[in-house]
Amino acid sequence: MNILITNDDGIYSPGLAALAKIAAKFGDVRVVAPDVERSSASHAITSHLPISYKNARLNLGEHIQTFKVNGTPADCAALGTHLAKTDVVLSGINMGPNLGNAMWHSGTLAAAKQAVLLGVKGIALSTPVGKEDPDFNLLSPFVEETLKLLLTDERIALYNVNFPPKPKGILWTRQSNRLYDNRIVPGVDPMGRKHYWFTVIPLAAAEEGTDRWAVENDYVSITPLRLDLTDEGELKKRVEEKSNSVNN
Ligand code: MN
Repeated sequence: MNILITNDDGIYSPGLAALAKIAAKFGDVRVVAPDVERSSASHAITSHLPISYKNARLNLGEHIQTFKVNGTPADCAALGTHLAKTDVVLSGINMGPNLGNAMWHSGTLAAAKQAVLLGVKGIALSTPVGKEDPDFNLLSPFVEETLKLLLTDERIALYNVNFPPKPKGILWTRQSNRLYDNRIVPGVDPMGRKHYWFTVIPLAAAEEGTDRWAVENDYVSITPLRLDLTDEGELKKRVEEKSNSVNN
């Protein structure tokens, strides 16, 4: 199996190194990742400038080539799958969760989404970060079990995986759908200019069975996603309304 690894934290992230080492148990691993952090870049692509890659020469294990790209996570997934045959794109392990509505902003997930747009399976992997870095040794067996579960079938599918700091099992979940506070914290920079910090704190408790709920209850959360955002219920209602008004 040809495995492409990318992320949005940049090629020097310890989360990427941890994922590359585990993924090497499942096939041939290549790393194509942003040269700098691109967290919250969502699904941006670099369409107005050329992008290029350089050998990063990271020592992540024998036979693992590492390339850094002056582009976004989605660019890396596109370039990586263009440069060599790819069966799956793994994105992460992100240093920070990508749960619920954070999926809209996530560069980690966008790289996996880009893979699926190109006809390749995509898996995004994330874990919360506290005052200390995540314990990737502790997470390792759960990452391996998750990959075992998701890499066995050959369907082109998109998965969003989140690991709590100390997992006690794995759950299939749906996306939590909560409004967040849009609290914007103002400050002043050393030059005396105003600046603003955005926060994305959900307003309500997580719904049972969702990704947020699972991670809050110490379970690894795997959410199967689709790229079709159509609101089927609303569409059906609107189409029926239209046909009724035509018939009357
Ligand atoms: Mn990130």
